[in-house]
Amino acid sequence: MKKLVGCLRMRAIIRVPNGGLRIGGNPATLEQGTAVDFPSIHNPVNGEPYVPGSSLKGRLRAMLEKVEGKGREGDPCNCGRRDCLVCVVFGAHKRPQAESSPTRIIVRDAPLTPESSRHFRDLQAEGKSLFEEKAENLVDRDKGTAEHPRWQERVWDAAFQMEILVHVYDGDEPVKMLEFVRKGLGLIQEIGALGAGGSRGSGQVRFENISVDPMTLESVTV
Ligand SMILES: [Zn+2]
Repeated sequence: MKKLVGCLRMRAIIRVPNGGLRIGGNPATLEQGTAVDFPSIHNPVNGEPYVPGSSLKGRLRAMLEKVEGKGREGDPCNCGRRDCLVCVVFGAHKRPQAESSPTRIIVRDAPLTPESSRHFRDLQAEGKSLFEEKAENLVDRDKGTAEHPRWQERVWDAAFQMEILVHVYDGDEPVKMLEFVRKGLGLIQEIGALGAGGSRGSGQVRFENISVDPMTLESVTV
C-alpha cells in the first residue's frame, strides 16, 4: 500500500472573459413553460451557476491526453503505467488496481466568487440574469437554411473559485505532477475551451491568480 505523504492545493479564479460558458444541467429540473431546451447547470439551492469538478477534470485530462498522444478512439488512457502521468494523476480508466493507482487529483466543484455571486443577485434584483438564452440552429447545408432552433443557456460575465488537490504519495514527483496539471489549465485557456460548444464559440476561460499551497499532513485537522 502506497503511503500518502502530502498534498498540493492549487487555487485559481476561472474567469469567463467574453463569450458564454455552456455547461449543461438537467432538463428535467426545468420549470414548466420555459423556452430553454438545454438549461445551464446551477446550484439548486441558490440558483447560481457553477463549474462541476467533473467538467474541469474531464477537459483537463482530455487536453493532456491529446498532447501526450494517450488514449484512443475517444477512450481515456488506461495503460496504468507508473510513468504515465495521465494515469497517475487522473487514474487509469476503469483499472483501479493498476500500478499507477491511486488517482492523485481531486477537482472540487467551483462556485461563483463572492463578487460574482453579488453581481448575480444584483442582476436578479433588476430582473436580469447572468444566463443568456441562445438559439443553436441545425443548418440544412443544401438549402443553407436554419432549422429547428434549440434554446440553450450560457453563462456570461462570471468568475468561479477553482480548487484542485493533488495527493502526493511516497516516491511521487510532486513538481512534475503539478506542472502537468498547470500545463492542462494552460491548454484549456490558450487553445481549448471549457464546457460544451467550444468549436462554436462557447467556453473561453482564463485562469487567474493561480496559487499553490503545499500541505503537510501533520497540519491537517478539523
Ligand atoms: Zn496511461
